[in-house]
Amino acid sequence: MKNLVVLVLTAIFCFAGCKKDQLVTDDLDIKESFVVMIDAAHGGKDPGAVSQSGVTEKDIVLSISKKLEKLLKQEKLRVEMTRKKDTFVSLQERIMLSQNSGADLLVCIHTNNSRDLAERGLTTFYQRQNPKSMKLDSLIHAELKDLNMMPDHGGGEANFFILKQSSAPAVIIDLGFLSNPDDEKLLADLEVQSQFAASLKRAILKYIELL
Ligand SMILES: [Zn+2]
Repeated sequence: MKNLVVLVLTAIFCFAGCKKDQLVTDDLDIKESFVVMIDAAHGGKDPGAVSQSGVTEKDIVLSISKKLEKLLKQEKLRVEMTRKKDTFVSLQERIMLSQNSGADLLVCIHTNNSRDLAERGLTTFYQRQNPKSMKLDSLIHAELKDLNMMPDHGGGEANFFILKQSSAPAVIIDLGFLSNPDDEKLLADLEVQSQFAASLKRAILKYIELL
């Protein structure tokens, strides 16, 4: 009987101990197993917004996306991209690529456009009723606001196809208006693009830390 009690107690301690070790390992692994899908919007036959001087949204967002990819990889995160070149990828394909990669986060990078050429600034959209999407959205705003480059219009919930279909928490980011000459100048500046990418990287890292 005594032997049985010792056996049972040993089993309980082992179970508790193993579980604890497992949790610690999981914490360490979160960053390395975390998959960020960067969605450089538009591409190929779809230029997205086009500025008055001919700068295209597809080129700007691809450039920023590649910078973000590099920064996140330096942080040892797993990074996937819906496109790496000037190619057309449909919204359905973007969702499929995201699902197939097992993405934990989907970050869609756009620029904005308006008939009112005076309109400028940052806007984002998060998934309705998804607290994780909202959290990432607020972290992105906090980081981009710190750059103090353009007015911040805040985030709003939206029902866009990508947001509706993505099972991973997703955010759409409109980094300024290509239709506005001031925003266009910023967006076309490679140093500014690097600063945008660094801000997005910091927001994503903070998001992961909070998991
Ligand atoms: Zn766009």
